[in-house]
Amino acid sequence: MIVAKLMHSIEAGTERDLGDYVWFWCPGCAGYHRARVRMPDRPTDQEIADQQANRQGLWTWNGNESSPTIRASILLGIEQSGKRCHSFVTDGRIEYCTDSQHALSGQTIDLPEIEL
Ligand SMILES: [Zn+2]
Repeated sequence: MIVAKLMHSIEAGTERDLGDYVWFWCPGCAGYHRARVRMPDRPTDQEIADQQANRQGLWTWNGNESSPTIRASILLGIEQSGKRCHSFVTDGRIEYCTDSQHALSGQTIDLPEIEL
């Protein structure tokens, strides 16, 4: 069993590589959030348009699964119905922005460990 604070997945499709994602558990939402850290080798026109419109952007990750830092911020719940969750992941901790709409808004907590 491997314990980490972040899961890195390379999602391969049947016809092409769909890119790299990092996943972490968000206690504020009681669910996983993900960020794309690398585009596919051959992005579709829609993926390029989404990235240019900042709907499905590219994030950076420091490559560390036990003390991850992800940039830019991660924002969910704008287009979907439901609560907004806005955070930065820095050195293995989640910094919830005050515009988050859950109980951890404004708090900074350790990222929960997950079993890989
Ligand atoms: Zn969340």
